Amino acid sequence: MNSQSSRIKNSIPSVLVIAGFDPSGGAGLLADCKTIHANGGYAATVMSSLTIQNTQGVKSSNPIDANLFNAQLETLAEDIDFDAIKIGMLATQEQVEIVANFLMVKAHIPSVLDPVLVSSSGRPLLEACAHSSFVETLLPNATLLTPNLLEINTLLSLAKPPASFDETTLEANITALQRLRTQNILVKGGHSEKTLAEDFLFADVQSQPTVERFSAPRLSVTHNHGTGCTLASAIAVNLAKGQDLIAAISAAKSYLTQALQTADANQPNYQTLPAGKKRHGSVNHLLNHFLN
Ligand code: PLP
Repeated sequence: MNSQSSRIKNSIPSVLVIAGFDPSGGAGLLADCKTIHANGGYAATVMSSLTIQNTQGVKSSNPIDANLFNAQLETLAEDIDFDAIKIGMLATQEQVEIVANFLMVKAHIPSVLDPVLVSSSGRPLLEACAHSSFVETLLPNATLLTPNLLEINTLLSLAKPPASFDETTLEANITALQRLRTQNILVKGGHSEKTLAEDFLFADVQSQPTVERFSAPRLSVTHNHGTGCTLASAIAVNLAKGQDLIAAISAAKSYLTQALQTADANQPNYQTLPAGKKRHGSVNHLLNHFLN
């Protein structure tokens, strides 16, 4: 008998999430699940690393062994017919290779790759020896790459020959971005100094490159941990619903804006912060859907 799935009517759009576990709930798998659920999707997860962290920073990252990682992936993939794939933190070269092969096999499913190489607090999350394999094997197999300005420059310096990203000359940018061999790239300007948070979608980079700009007000928010995970998961669930890339990104950005706008007012009770420490909690993923 054919093992292909028979689509059921009114099924929930489903996203396979491959990422690290941040027990504090701000980033990684928990952030991804909350985002996908808040946007009407179903999430299943593959854990790449158990990180030990709280809102004050990452204490350690403990990669999941390649066999266990692969077993999670295969077991879910033989059961659920996913509508989209979201990839966040990967920890090891073996994991990069497993995911690259998986994306090749599942090329018909839209995938969003958030290139989390280093945490915002500066801790390396993907082992350095896996960087070139990340660029060479993973990037060409993702539908959409979602780097911030820092990440795009890191990726471009890893590509051969290296290039750097310059916001002012779009055509030169496309030539540089083509070296990454990804189909579509959303460069997030959230870390630049401008008054607007502007993201640029370079679509169809390899054949008919076009550039689309997405603007949102720049918000001054303390609790902004996991913003990249949240945006990428929101895009993935929108793609799972069948939206095109531009609609999916637009809706994801407005969801993230709301989650950021309400973040500082929706935090748990914290212990007193030790002197000299800073805290970055979770954005408000559920947008108070469940408050009474
Ligand atoms: N994913 C996981 C599992 C993480 O632990 C982190 C950072 O600690 C991230 C993603 C990236 O999140 P951020 O960019 O807010 O540091």
